[in-house]
Amino acid sequence: MKAVAINGYGTIGKRVADAVAAQDDMKVVGVSKTKPDFEAEMAIAKGYDLYMAIPEREKLFEDAGVQVSGTVDEMFDKADIVVDCTPEGMGAKNKENIYEKRDLKAIFEGGEKHDAIGLSFNSFCNYEDVIGAEYARVVSCNTTGLSRTLKPIADLCGIKKVRAVMVRRGADPAQVKKGPINAIIPNPPTVPSHHGPDLQTVMYDVDITTIAILVPTTLMHQHNLMVELESTPDLDDIIETLEKTSRVILVSADKGLGSTAEVMEYAKDLGRSRNDLFEIAVWKESLNIVEDELYYMQAIHQEADVVPENVDAIRAMLEIETDAQKSIEKTNKSMDIL
Ligand code: NAD
Repeated sequence: MKAVAINGYGTIGKRVADAVAAQDDMKVVGVSKTKPDFEAEMAIAKGYDLYMAIPEREKLFEDAGVQVSGTVDEMFDKADIVVDCTPEGMGAKNKENIYEKRDLKAIFEGGEKHDAIGLSFNSFCNYEDVIGAEYARVVSCNTTGLSRTLKPIADLCGIKKVRAVMVRRGADPAQVKKGPINAIIPNPPTVPSHHGPDLQTVMYDVDITTIAILVPTTLMHQHNLMVELESTPDLDDIIETLEKTSRVILVSADKGLGSTAEVMEYAKDLGRSRNDLFEIAVWKESLNIVEDELYYMQAIHQEADVVPENVDAIRAMLEIETDAQKSIEKTNKSMDIL
């Protein structure tokens, strides 16, 4: 049973911890927190050993009555691999200052720059390239969304060029200090946005240009894709391919799922922990081929979609499983993913 430490127990870290705990070939040896807040208390209530990210704050934890098992260094001593879910940019510093010095394998999240980590990961695109790696970065929620639907389309009929308009949620639901509240922000205001190059870190040859805006919503990202195809299949072939693709679901406005709000309501009805939608939701009605170009729209639950990929990355890097499909199936089964 491989030992996994989670450094940074926030939006992504707490979900990755639960996903790891659901596997039978790996276990959570600890999670770290900087302060004794409700998430620290919840981590202990769930049975995770809690470690202090900032050892100087021991008294703060003591005064709050939050029982810690030690410092992050002690957590790292017990780990075969660490999943670094600290805020954007901190992972790269931790790589240099902690993990490399300890010779400890580490997985990073999409907030880190590809160049700082050297290798990016998506279960469906490049699992094989990450087998046994010391460090890898699970691409961002948006890039995971692009990978999940573009890879099976590329495999089916080849892709000449992708253009995508990314409508990004302004903040996560719990981020009370972020916005916008009443604006649409070109973000970045330059074209192309970083999302296309990020996809090329896992779908190496894809020709893609993206532009992105931030909007006042917290629920999901929404993508609008225009894909020039190498060969033009029937639309039914594309629909069938996406229906068969794991971690992708087709939803229909006709059935009341005409918005991100309703898709998240569907996720609530699935009855999963935290209402997570790990799958990318593609609107069936939006799929259309005009001449040799495929159009579609999709929604991404930004807090959840990258979580199964983190589990697969652990299996690849620790060489627990060298077959991508087997890892994907195992992760899906343990997390009830469609
Ligand atoms: P978050 O702010 O919700 O969680 C980060 C956690 O790390 C917090 O609990 C914070 O207290 C803790 N932390 C801060 N400093 C620390 C330290 N020195 N040591 C240990 N822990 C520390 O952030 P998040 O949304 O979970 O993002 C984590 C990473 O995942 C980022 O790279 C982000 O870009 C990426 N990501 C986020 C989303 C999303 O939508 N939230 C989606 C995909 C990827």
